[in-house]
Amino acid sequence: MKLVFATHNTNKFIEVKALVPQHFELLSLTDIQCFDEIEETGTTLEENARIKADYVINNYGLPCFADDTGLLVDTLNGAPGVYTARYAGMQKSAHDNMEKLLQELLNKDNRNAHFKTVIALNLNKERHMFQGIVKGTITTKQMGDGGFGYDPIFKPEGFDQTFAELPLTTKNQISHRGRAMGKLLQYLEALKP
Ligand code: IMP
Repeated sequence: MKLVFATHNTNKFIEVKALVPQHFELLSLTDIQCFDEIEETGTTLEENARIKADYVINNYGLPCFADDTGLLVDTLNGAPGVYTARYAGMQKSAHDNMEKLLQELLNKDNRNAHFKTVIALNLNKERHMFQGIVKGTITTKQMGDGGFGYDPIFKPEGFDQTFAELPLTTKNQISHRGRAMGKLLQYLEALKP
């Protein structure tokens, strides 16, 4: 069964493809020749995920899911949240975003944060929403060079290493996206004839 994951992010697509069972033919936006930059104009993660999933079903007529992720830092009242990707500006630089967050948290004792992923699925004329959360702390400096985004400064609860230092298989098992994807896949499995 063809299923589109509405993303242009190659790293994310590779991570998610590793989780999807083989009987789904997972396609990226590039695979369906969609090169548009779908604008994330929502004010919540849920809204942004819906906007992206709707764009694909409306323009390409294919079953589709889209995700939106935010990093929510307790002492910053949930910031950067919906602005996680563009925290330090529209250039969306992972390096600049991490530096800005480290500056904001300079000398702060409470470094608790969580990643939250929301997935919107458009399938069989219905929409379903799934959510995954991973709690952790923001480190005081970058550690590791795996993963992407804020991985070098996020240490998940129960681990001594950042996401950028942990193997991808471990990250997938415990991550916000891994958990949200797990719920999505469970739902899809149950639909199998
Ligand atoms: P998106 O909604 O998946 O595009 O993510 C929004 C922002 O969160 C981007 O700046 C990503 O770098 C960051 N982000 C999403 N997932 C992760 C992750 O697994 N690790 C680190 N940063 C992430």
